[in-house]
Amino acid sequence: MGKTLFWIAVFFVVLLGSRFLAHQAAKKRFRDEQASKPPQSNPLPGSEAMVQCAHCNIFLPRSEALLTQDETWCSQAHAQLGPHRPR
Ligand SMILES: [Zn+2]
Repeated sequence: MGKTLFWIAVFFVVLLGSRFLAHQAAKKRFRDEQASKPPQSNPLPGSEAMVQCAHCNIFLPRSEALLTQDETWCSQAHAQLGPHRPR
């Protein structure tokens, strides 16, 4: 009887020990993944980079902007007018 209880105790110690080790390994893996991930440049999911019109200086989403010769524009008209030059 005592021997049976001993083996049951051994079984539970091994079970708890392996669970503890698996938990530690998972925690370590999670931390490594977090560390290896590059920092989020855009914290808001679904939001996109804003660009500025070179003529009127308004900000608009990159997908709606007109991109020509290294400049961004809010519309075709402003792209034709060219960059706004302060006097
Ligand atoms: Zn504009």
